[in-house]
Parts: sequence; structure tokens; C-alpha cells
Amino acid sequence: MLDFVLGYSAGQRSASRAASLARSAAVGDATINTNRIEDVNERVDRLAMIVRAMWSLLEEEGYRPEDLVARLEEMDLADGELDGQVREKSVDCPACQSKVAPGLRNCQFCGAVARTDDGHPLSSI
Ligand SMILES: [Zn+2]
Repeated sequence: MLDFVLGYSAGQRSASRAASLARSAAVGDATINTNRIEDVNERVDRLAMIVRAMWSLLEEEGYRPEDLVARLEEMDLADGELDGQVREKSVDCPACQSKVAPGLRNCQFCGAVARTDDGHPLSSI
């Protein structure tokens, strides 16, 4: 299901980006930022519509807003902080203390393991 939703959204994004590039080529670079904002707005609108559709299906199945809030907090806390984001943050390498980029399990400088397989900083286990 998630693959479908992401693919649906990405398809729109590609079409929107192509349209944005075409507009930029036609009118010059000065409008690129405006076109990018329009592109982001279109993607947000599309995602909001997908979320509304998913929520209406869940309500039909008996889910309540409290269930959604509880799941949101659970997912938010997956990265260790209740901050409204699921984005992985950089961590300090336990071997050389360099900042290890989000998404990397091993330090990009010395190769030491810096995160567990589920993305948590090694130092926090
Ligand atoms: Zn390192």
C-alpha cells in the first residue's frame, strides 16, 4: 500500500517537475524558485489528499483520532525524539568523533560502525 502511495505521489512529482522545467526554459532562470515553490505546493496538496483518503478509510474501519495520535507519537519517537520529525540526524562516530551523515551505518571517514541496523546511534545502546 505504501509503495502505491509513494509511487502515486512520485509520478505526480515527475510530471510536475517536467512542467516546471519547461516553464523555466520558456521564461528564464528568474522564475525557477517560483516554479519550485509551486512544485512543492502541488506535492503537499497531493499528499494531503492521499492522507485524507487513507484516514476516511480508517474511520470507516472504526479507528478514532486518538488512535492516530498515539501512532503518530510512536512513529515520531522512533528516532529518539518527540519533535514532529522522523528524519535521521547525524551522529558522532564512536571511533573518530566525526559527524556521520544521516542514512550511513558506518562512518564515512574511518569506516567504524556508528549506527545499529535500525538506525539508532551506536553510543545510545
Ligand atoms: Zn569515524
